[in-house]
Amino acid sequence: MTRKKLPENLHRDTLAVRAAADKSQYGENSEALFLTSSFVQPDAASAVRRFANEEEGFIYSRFSNPTVASMEQRLAAMEGTEACIGTASGMAAILLMCMGLLKSGDHVICSQSVFGATIKLIGGEFGKFGVETTFVSQTDVAQWQAAVKPNTKLLFAETPTNPLTEVCDIRALAAIAHAAGALLAVDNCLCSPALSQPATLGADLVIHSGTKYLDGQGRVIAGAICGPKKLIDEKLIPIMRSAGMTLSPFNAWVVLKGLETLSIRMQAQSANALALATWLEAQPGVARVHYPGLKSHCQHALAMQQQTINGQGCGGAVLAFELKGLDADSARRNAFHVIDSTQVCSITANLGDTKTTITHPATTSHGRLTEAQRQAAGIGQGLIRVAVGLEYIDDLKADLARGLDSLT
Ligand SMILES: *Cc1c(COP(=O)(O)O)cnc(C)c1O
Repeated sequence: MTRKKLPENLHRDTLAVRAAADKSQYGENSEALFLTSSFVQPDAASAVRRFANEEEGFIYSRFSNPTVASMEQRLAAMEGTEACIGTASGMAAILLMCMGLLKSGDHVICSQSVFGATIKLIGGEFGKFGVETTFVSQTDVAQWQAAVKPNTKLLFAETPTNPLTEVCDIRALAAIAHAAGALLAVDNCLCSPALSQPATLGADLVIHSGTKYLDGQGRVIAGAICGPKKLIDEKLIPIMRSAGMTLSPFNAWVVLKGLETLSIRMQAQSANALALATWLEAQPGVARVHYPGLKSHCQHALAMQQQTINGQGCGGAVLAFELKGLDADSARRNAFHVIDSTQVCSITANLGDTKTTITHPATTSHGRLTEAQRQAAGIGQGLIRVAVGLEYIDDLKADLARGLDSLT
């Protein structure tokens, strides 16, 4: 096959469709899926050179695979990073990053509002290996600065957070990290590269749960780390080869194809979310709506500058809302009533799907916290999270109105 070489400086939307699409062997226009555990070596001497990293070539799919490599190249192109490494899940990406960057005696500063499993992994599991973590307010830059110690190696944030959509200032955190000789990692799951490229704002590593918007249709579990080639080659790939938190080629292929429609999905789902958030704010039973696209959001200005599509500020597709002034028991009853009255939304924990999902964080994602921890995290019993999908907006409003209009 003669292959065209892509011109430089293509727009992200073009890269989403075209990057890493130049490997066709038979003229196939859709990327091939290489479901193979190992690769036949031309001869014994080639095998020696490939195992020693002296020659390019695939060996074994725990190490690398052409389909996984295509997904990695496309995602790196969209994030504006030199390289990317695919992982079995979003959590596997965070595990790989921590194993690669941290050792006993090191210190991490982490937002207290990040994904629950991330808090358990970094604060709990890595604590067992002598890594100390300080949890700070997501939005208070002064707390991040004050937490810096001589042994601080990593700052970790997620923006916006789930479910309260707190935004952090990536540039400010990068400045603190770099002045301390540490790295900044940002979990870009909720924005995806369609809305935000943290590396262009100073983040060193960008973490993804490919399970969410990158796949976009709730089909597979996947993850990735985007960042500098030298760091990934030297600190992460050796661990991947021996520890095996490898992305399956099939899941990589699903994500690779999902990336092609990412931007258009994010635009449509974010527009639906803004319309739903605006409508929810006007409902008499609703006390508060958390959505970065609303003027009432505490960091609306920062969010609109940090998250953009085609130059326009964009709030993303996840929102949460609180039911009005109730004690904890009746708040939970009312929240369950609104959730159980839906006939369109799926009651499921996933987000980033084209199907709208609805959850009660206090009893699910944050159910294992104590009531005091939940209150500190701002997760009340009347809080409902909606990850808005692609359904027609009036059907979504009607689905929530059914429960909201019949609250007792
Ligand atoms: C889901 C999620 C993860 C974990 O991803 P998995 O693919 O489920 O392992 C990490 N961070 C955020 C923000 C998430 O939403």
